[in-house]
Amino acid sequence: MHETRLHDALRETLHTLHNAAARAQRPVPRLLAVSKTHPATAVAALGAAWRGLEPGVRPAFGENYVQEAAQKQAELAGADFEWHLIGHLQSNKAREAARLFDWVQTVDRPRLVEALSRHRVAAAPPLNVLVQVNIDDEASKHGCMPDAVEALADAIRAQPRLRLRGLMAIPAPDPATRGRAFQRMQALFSALQARHPGVDTLSMGMSDDFAEAVGAGATLVRIGSALFGARPASSPPRG
Ligand SMILES: *Cc1c(COP(=O)(O)O)cnc(C)c1O
Repeated sequence: MHETRLHDALRETLHTLHNAAARAQRPVPRLLAVSKTHPATAVAALGAAWRGLEPGVRPAFGENYVQEAAQKQAELAGADFEWHLIGHLQSNKAREAARLFDWVQTVDRPRLVEALSRHRVAAAPPLNVLVQVNIDDEASKHGCMPDAVEALADAIRAQPRLRLRGLMAIPAPDPATRGRAFQRMQALFSALQARHPGVDTLSMGMSDDFAEAVGAGATLVRIGSALFGARPASSPPRG
């Protein structure tokens, strides 16, 4: 995508984000730019535009696949970006994920907790993790059930190489149900915060619904197509 268009799309997204926060009388959420399927050149261009618009910011990018992220990071060696894994993590990729990412947003089972902590190198800061919640109880989706959040949070807190930061969800895109899903996430998040000091991140909202998510208390929104343009139709769109 042309650099001017990336710059304009970013400016517009930040503007919408600020307006949504002002309307909801909430702090402006963090933006995570979802760069899956887009090349390292586009990531570099967006990062440069972002630093131009928000001096001092550390641009944050979300990727769904460990392998794709590894390749882009190699091409972008030296760029000071923050990397978040937002796709489903297979246990046999936990080691590489613990090495490549600053955040893993998709922790949804005890086995991952232990594996990520074991493989986080001692020289790096603790890995930031979010518990992914299956908020719509859809059999086909990843994420833990809401009633499993507390046990998973306790397990994360017990690991020295992990830092529990909060919750993440991908509600079903249906406008008729997602408002309720956002509200259920907000309630879970408040309960988690009450039990665990240091929990500060509620990750929800994508290109089509992020303003609504901000109204329901999102502190981090994950935005892809509104920034980078549409992805190829063959790519898995979500999760
Ligand atoms: C792809 C993806 C996004 C971004 O989706 P857009 O609709 O392009 O903004 C956000 N979160 C997750 C988990 C994704 O897989």
